Amino acid sequence: MDVQQFREFGKAAVDYIADYIETIRDRPVVPTVKPGYLGELLPKEAPQTGETWQDVLQDVDRLIMPGITHWHSPRFHAYYPTANSFPAVVGEMLSAGFGCVGLSWISSPAYTELEVVMMNWLGKLLDLPEEFLNCSDGPGGGIIQGSASEVTFIGLLAAKEKKVKDLMELNPELKEADIKGKLVAYSSDQSNSSVEKAGLLGSMPMKLLPANDKGQLTAATLQEAIREDKERGLIPCYVVACLGTTPTCAFDDLAELGPICNREGIWLHVDAAYAGTAFACPEYRHLMKGVELSDSFNFNPHKWMLVNFDCSAMWVKNAKYLVEAFNVQRIYLKDNHNGLAPEYRHWQISLGRRFRALKLWFVLKIYGVEGIQKHVRDQISLAKQFEDLVNQDSRFEVCTSSMGLVTFRMKGDNALTRALLEKLDQRKNIFLMAGHFCNKFVIRFAICSRLTNSKDVEFSWEEIHSQANEIIPLPKCRIEGEMKEKRSIATIEFTDSASEKSRCEKSK
Ligand SMILES: *Cc1c(COP(=O)(O)O)cnc(C)c1O
Repeated sequence: MDVQQFREFGKAAVDYIADYIETIRDRPVVPTVKPGYLGELLPKEAPQTGETWQDVLQDVDRLIMPGITHWHSPRFHAYYPTANSFPAVVGEMLSAGFGCVGLSWISSPAYTELEVVMMNWLGKLLDLPEEFLNCSDGPGGGIIQGSASEVTFIGLLAAKEKKVKDLMELNPELKEADIKGKLVAYSSDQSNSSVEKAGLLGSMPMKLLPANDKGQLTAATLQEAIREDKERGLIPCYVVACLGTTPTCAFDDLAELGPICNREGIWLHVDAAYAGTAFACPEYRHLMKGVELSDSFNFNPHKWMLVNFDCSAMWVKNAKYLVEAFNVQRIYLKDNHNGLAPEYRHWQISLGRRFRALKLWFVLKIYGVEGIQKHVRDQISLAKQFEDLVNQDSRFEVCTSSMGLVTFRMKGDNALTRALLEKLDQRKNIFLMAGHFCNKFVIRFAICSRLTNSKDVEFSWEEIHSQANEIIPLPKCRIEGEMKEKRSIATIEFTDSASEKSRCEKSK
């Protein structure tokens, strides 16, 4: 492909993306393809002679698009959001165009230097303690990793090396292998599956302690687990606290957990993968009170902060522990700029690095702090709108509501909610996930797409509502269904929750 063809192909691809985003609302959010569909449609081998870019783009539309789940559809409410914005898409494109591998500072100085500055911008945007930033006098700093899973694992490895070193300094007779065999880590049973995985990969049992009925790991539970384990001769090493759990977006209390970890010499890692973005808004920062007591902090701009996957921001209070855990020197990696710029390869698992800071820069520059704040506030208010709609229907109950995530269920037996979700899954007009809360089967409803507006939330609720009608017919007092066409005039009063509830009560 020559440069002229690249110009044409590239521009056509940008147009294709723009058309896709513009029409995404009208596409069925979940595809109908079956496992193996693509294998049947594609040739069994690569073509002998090259094809044109027009062929490729046509194949994308014909073969790939039918198998795409539309994460950025306003009707996508599953999981948590994954971010997507035009500035970030262009950032990815330029990064691919430069195509460097940032394995050391000199391998592409702008890669490292922009990342240092972006991690400071981002840390200040969230109002993280100064000591986590690259620009502080201390040994703290930030780095962009690929995922929250990776960060939790990296934190565990750093905690392990630190613990071994600390104990061997205190007691030189101890053997490294003996210490490593006794280390234990803790998190709550509400933590993300990646936390358990970090324990598996890092050969450190990860104890998932029972959360309280608000989904939080309490100080008493943690303290008790530590005491028991110490009595059994184990060595508590690593705690993963969660700000915004995956099931219900619950927030552990760092001001409670932090002092225990500090006193016991346990590395405290904070997983704020989704909800961390909310700290861009001062009104939510009380939820991270005590963050200064943690050793590492992580959130995913690729979830809620409009930066395309992947971009996971990690800060540590003392980068020395990462470098000590990961540093392997080689002659071709020799650095002679000690102290002036970090060698990020010593802070991560792989040697090579992508230019992720570029898309982050584009997003921060083009949206600005206010743009990010507006995005967060708008999405939270859409979740609130949904919560209100659920509350207006007496057959339903809202179980939790936090940030952009609402969990809800049909009152009564779990089978009702299960049947409802099954119907919704079959219809594929909206996409939701099942969850559990306090041993009850619930549906998770997350505001995911940046395109979601108030009308979309109404649409999604109407879809849920209409399927609920097939499970439990509307109470007689609700004539809303029959009067759908006249809805805007005739039923305004009926959608008022208080009056509707009292009518229903009376008719019973
Ligand atoms: C999504 C999520 C993760 C996993 O994030 P990845 O970047 O995909 O690894 C971890 N923890 C929490 C709380 C999450 O919500």
